[in-house]
Amino acid sequence: MTQHVPTSTLPVTYRALRVEKTEAGIQASLQTLPTTDLPDGDVTVQVTHSSLNYKDGLAVSGQPGVLRSYPMTPGIDLAGTVLEDRTGRWQAGQSVILTGWGIGERQDGGYATLARANADWLVAQPAGTDAHWAMSVGTAGFTAMLAVMALEEHGVTPGDGEVLVTGAAGGVGSTAVALLAAAGHTVVASTGRPQEEAYLLGLGASRVIGRDELPALKRPLEKERWAGVVDSVGGATLAGAYASTRAHGSLAVCGLAGGSELNASVFPLILRGVNLLGIDSVTCPAPRREAAWARLARDLKPDALAAVTHTRPLSDVPALAGQILAGQIRGRTVIDVT
Ligand code: NDP
Repeated sequence: MTQHVPTSTLPVTYRALRVEKTEAGIQASLQTLPTTDLPDGDVTVQVTHSSLNYKDGLAVSGQPGVLRSYPMTPGIDLAGTVLEDRTGRWQAGQSVILTGWGIGERQDGGYATLARANADWLVAQPAGTDAHWAMSVGTAGFTAMLAVMALEEHGVTPGDGEVLVTGAAGGVGSTAVALLAAAGHTVVASTGRPQEEAYLLGLGASRVIGRDELPALKRPLEKERWAGVVDSVGGATLAGAYASTRAHGSLAVCGLAGGSELNASVFPLILRGVNLLGIDSVTCPAPRREAAWARLARDLKPDALAAVTHTRPLSDVPALAGQILAGQIRGRTVIDVT
């Protein structure tokens, strides 16, 4: 790749939330940087909105494992307009969405007014939607969509029985509840926040269960309960959900908010034909991305997301990072980058 030469169409400077490693530890601060500091790449995007995900919380709080080098601009999601594209694939002024592909981890991400990306990473903003909507969906909602698509592709059909969503009051969980309910499924929401019961029922859950119920299911094969599962918690929650999935049911495994281990037997796989499906939003191939965003635009209208979305300025991100790690954020948080 040749070095990108800034042109007069680009601003001279941009504002970014930078995470740096100093002698005092890892620190995040808002900085104004020369545009020449942007990473190399095909497309320059004027970012208007980003979002807050669990992974962003880890990155901004200086937890190991997300940011691969320092200094770095976190933010695994962004939406905005193209300023220039040296491949010619995108036109200046086109509205685009970028999630995953390592932005906000291996290269500068969405917590900045400008971003650079490969042309292949971008998705056109679906007709009838805007950047705020896209970021209220964000990686969390996109992941929920991939999970629902995976369940459907493995035969989970409305009318089959209850579909369980764990970590239901979180970003992936809230959107999964809304998407599954919109598709006609009977949704059971598992949450550690009983005070969010009315919120989850409002999203379309038919009933709510406590966070403790699933880890209590410890036998290799429990009573068959779930036709499908969207899991963002992992650990003993996933193990309990897996042991209680009905014959030929499927689990879409998205996250590890409650633990990364999976202590389980092969019995649900070999005696019930249960499907354990992995979901990875970061490297999801482009055609599947476009299909997921088109379906999100169809099934998740802006008013459906209004109740689950809060909008906060870029300067609030350091405080919000601690809150999402503490499980205190309900639904989705859009970051207004302008
Ligand atoms: P959120 O923090 O918004 O949601 C996570 C939810 O999990 C919380 O709201 C809470 O739900 C529940 N939870 C949190 N801590 C615990 C715990 N100790 N035990 C049990 N439940 C807990 O995060 P996101 O929705 O953004 O992400 C969820 C997970 O999915 C994360 O692990 C994230 O890394 C992963 N992820 C994976 C992606 C992929 O491509 N595979 C993409 C996006 C996210 P409640 O309050 O309802 O109990």
